[in-house]
Amino acid sequence: MPLCSHCKQKWKYFQTLKYFGRTFMYCPYCKELNVQTEISRRLERLISLFVLIPVFLLFIVFDVPQMVAVGAGVAFLVGFYLAYPLILDVGKRKMN
Ligand SMILES: [Zn+2]
Repeated sequence: MPLCSHCKQKWKYFQTLKYFGRTFMYCPYCKELNVQTEISRRLERLISLFVLIPVFLLFIVFDVPQMVAVGAGVAFLVGFYLAYPLILDVGKRKMN
């Protein structure tokens, strides 16, 4: 679970789930702006690849029924969504 880069409070699982798909998020405790770290973003991309590849393989290589492949895809996506708070890491916004 991410730790606020300002007040160092650990965010709760369901609070973090709300930020799914965002790179900017406000701490639920101190309301300061946090950004998703580059490492966390890379990890997220890597995991989504691991989600897409098996679904793609199911479709192309193994010629499974469409419903099964779609079901597997949905199951992977739900798993990814539920794992999101564990992957997310936030830091302070870098000023360039
Ligand atoms: Zn905070």
